[in-house]
Amino acid sequence: MFADIRSKRIIFIAHCVLNQNSISDGTADYPSTNVDIIRILINKQVGIVQMPCPELCCLGLDRGNILGSQSPVVVENTRIRKEMQKSPAAEQLAVLVDQVVLQITEYHKHGFEILGIIGINRSPCCGVDTTSDNDNEIKGQGVFITAIKEALAKKKLLIPVMGIKSTPDAVNCVKSLL
Ligand code: SF4
Repeated sequence: MFADIRSKRIIFIAHCVLNQNSISDGTADYPSTNVDIIRILINKQVGIVQMPCPELCCLGLDRGNILGSQSPVVVENTRIRKEMQKSPAAEQLAVLVDQVVLQITEYHKHGFEILGIIGINRSPCCGVDTTSDNDNEIKGQGVFITAIKEALAKKKLLIPVMGIKSTPDAVNCVKSLL
């Protein structure tokens, strides 16, 4: 089954690696896409699965801060972290996690190589090595990554999860998964 031309190699990436328009006000690093990372993945014939942006889906494109981009990033991130744990955002987040884990489970069931999950360090949702809380960037994970990892652990699925922040570090991190 699936013995056609497809590479059967898949990577799951944070939504904003492909679409910076989703990111919170004032924090975009690129006009549209982190081209360096996407180019590497395309050249290596890796299927790119864009995970949903939890903040966009649960809080909206305008995350609801009247000060917007005037707030320091880690202060705004801390506020967002709290908002994501309230109802109905928390329930909506659980649905997004289920959607991601279902896709991973399906690819795994059919023998596809899942190279990893790429999150965004410092993010209150997608941070892997660092996140934001108490108005600081701290060691720890965002709420989305935490929930995904817990769900994968329950299914005994071992998938590398890696956090990136900026190029060229990000490029080297992604290369290490390929
Ligand atoms: S880090 Fe996660 S929550 Fe933040 S913009 Fe990117 S995908 Fe959305």
